[in-house]
Amino acid sequence: GLTGEAYRRRHEITVTGDEVPPPLTSFEATGFPSEILKEVLKAGFPSPTPIQAQSWPVALQSRDIVAVAKTGSGKTLGYLIPGFIHLKRCRNDPQLGPTVLVLSPTRELATQIQDEAVKFGKSSRISCTCLYGGAPKGPQLKELDRGADIVVATPGRLNDILEMRRVSLNQVKYLVLDEADRMLDMGFEPQIRKIVKEVPARRQTLMYTATWPKEVRKIAADLLVNPVQVNIGNID
Ligand code: ADP
Ligand code: MG
Repeated sequence: GLTGEAYRRRHEITVTGDEVPPPLTSFEATGFPSEILKEVLKAGFPSPTPIQAQSWPVALQSRDIVAVAKTGSGKTLGYLIPGFIHLKRCRNDPQLGPTVLVLSPTRELATQIQDEAVKFGKSSRISCTCLYGGAPKGPQLKELDRGADIVVATPGRLNDILEMRRVSLNQVKYLVLDEADRMLDMGFEPQIRKIVKEVPARRQTLMYTATWPKEVRKIAADLLVNPVQVNIGNID
């Protein structure tokens, strides 16, 4: 196979950070638990996408990460699978609140992420619920009361539910800001900052974005600790 460096060159991967681990260029190389590997192989994917190959080993080291890669590059499993592995290592009582929190800009994207989490997490018995605006709160609160390892939420609806004191984020250990650039474009920055104040400071934070403008850099600098940055292709 290709060496890490050759794989990075071929796939236009650039990394910054201390001692960034080499990419995991095949599913076999990941060392994922068999329940997870089984689901990935069942999906028929031939190999990890470049963002997965490079962000998995970083995320599995429990380090903060900024990943800049365009739409359709497989970012969702890039952060979900390390989140699953975190959950397998230290599982909380989901009744106390989620261990993994994913913030997403829209209802459509949030439900897609939930679908992926349910599909790939099923064999690992990982539960996931979704909170988004433009729909009644009642059914979402009912689902939430049943407990979930993973909550995927749009910032506005999650804030409403936090203000109602119907969810606690004090068990969150793995926080994902997906499509960070889009969330900022949509004006969610104040809600994101309020939400993050409710999440323990001792956590892993992952930020996924398609673009890298200064607003995104600023929030990354504020919310992440010594992150590894992974870029796919040309940014800016
Ligand atoms: P992004 O968030 O970067 O826009 P997604 O995570 O939505 O991308 O993935 C885009 C599509 O690629 C989805 O249909 C997903 O199931 C599929 N996909 C994910 N990982 C792989 C892979 N390793 N190989 C092939 N397809 C993949
Ligand atoms: Mg995505």
